[in-house]
Amino acid sequence: MNRPLNILVLSRNPKLYSTRRLVEAGEARGHKVRVVNPLRCYMDINPIRPGVHYKGEPLGPFDAIIPRIGASITFYGTAVVRQFEMMGVFSLNESVAISRSRDKLRSLQLLARKGIGLPVSGFAYSPDDTQDLIQMVGGAPLVIKLLEGTQGKGVVLAETDKAAESVIDAFRNLNAYFLTQEFIKEANGADIRCFVIGDKVVASMMRQAQEGEFRSNLHRGGSARPIRITPEERSTAVRAARILGLNVAGVDLMRSNHGPVVLEVNSSPGLEGIEATTNKDIAGLIFEFIEKNAKPGKTKTRGRG
Ligand code: ADP
Repeated sequence: MNRPLNILVLSRNPKLYSTRRLVEAGEARGHKVRVVNPLRCYMDINPIRPGVHYKGEPLGPFDAIIPRIGASITFYGTAVVRQFEMMGVFSLNESVAISRSRDKLRSLQLLARKGIGLPVSGFAYSPDDTQDLIQMVGGAPLVIKLLEGTQGKGVVLAETDKAAESVIDAFRNLNAYFLTQEFIKEANGADIRCFVIGDKVVASMMRQAQEGEFRSNLHRGGSARPIRITPEERSTAVRAARILGLNVAGVDLMRSNHGPVVLEVNSSPGLEGIEATTNKDIAGLIFEFIEKNAKPGKTKTRGRG
C-alpha cells in the first residue's frame, strides 16, 4: 500500500471527464484529491514563505499538484503552477514545460534542434516573403496554421499557391501569427495520439478524419481506434515529451514519407478519448507515476524560468 498523498488538481471544471477520472483514480488508490479552479487561486509572492490562497484561506500543504490548464488561461495558470513549485510542491508537469508546449513555434524549434521528425515548417514576418514562405514548404497543397489555434481551429489546407497567398494575406490583416507547413498527404487524414507518462507510451490511438476533412481532431468528428505503434514512433513520442520537459503528454504524430513527424505535444491531454478507445486506466497510471516521483523539492526548476 502506498503512503496516502494529498493531491491538488488544478482544473476549472470538476465535471469534466478527465478531472472526474483523476479524482476517482486517486481516491481508489487511497489518496486525498481536491479540485480547485486555478483562476480562483491567488498568490502571496514573497521571499520567505510564498503561498497560494483560495477563498480567504491558504491552500495546502500538498504532496503534488496535477495542472489541467486550458489553453485560454495559460498565462495565469502557469503562474499558479510556478508558485507551487516555489513552495517545493511536485507538479506533474512543470510550469516552464507547459509554457513551452503552448507555444507551437517554440516547440517546433526545440524539437527540430534535437533532430525530431517534423513537417517542414516556415515562419515569416514580412508580406514580401510570402512567395518564398510557400515554396519553402514545397508549395501547394500546403497547411497554414494559426499559432494560437487549438482543436483544429485555425488549421487551413490551401490547395493552390494562390489560395495560400489569400489566406496568408487575411491572417496578416488580422495581425495573427501563423506557420506554413508541408501537407502530409500520404497520412490520408490520420494521425496518432501517443499518451506518454514518464519514459513510456502507455496508450496510443489512431484518429481518422471524417470523409472530406483533413483534420482528425475528435472535436471535428474524427473517429479513433487503438493502434500498435512502431519502435521508432514510440521513441519519437517519448523523446518529444522529454525535450519539452513534460512528464505527461499527448504527442500527436503523422506517418509521413520521411518517417514519423510530430504535429503537436499537448501538456493537458484529454483522458476520455484515449481511455474509451484503449480501455486502459490512464488516470490510474498517472497516479502510479506520482506515487513514484512526488517528493518535496523534486521540482527541477523550483519556479525558475
Ligand atoms: P490543433 O492544435 O488545432 O489540433 P494541429 O496542428 O494538431 O492543430 O492540427 C489539427 C489536425 O489537422 C491534425 O490532427 C491533423 O489531422 C491535421 N494536420 C495538421 N497539420 C497537418 C499537416 N502538416 N499535414 C496534414 N495534416 C495536418
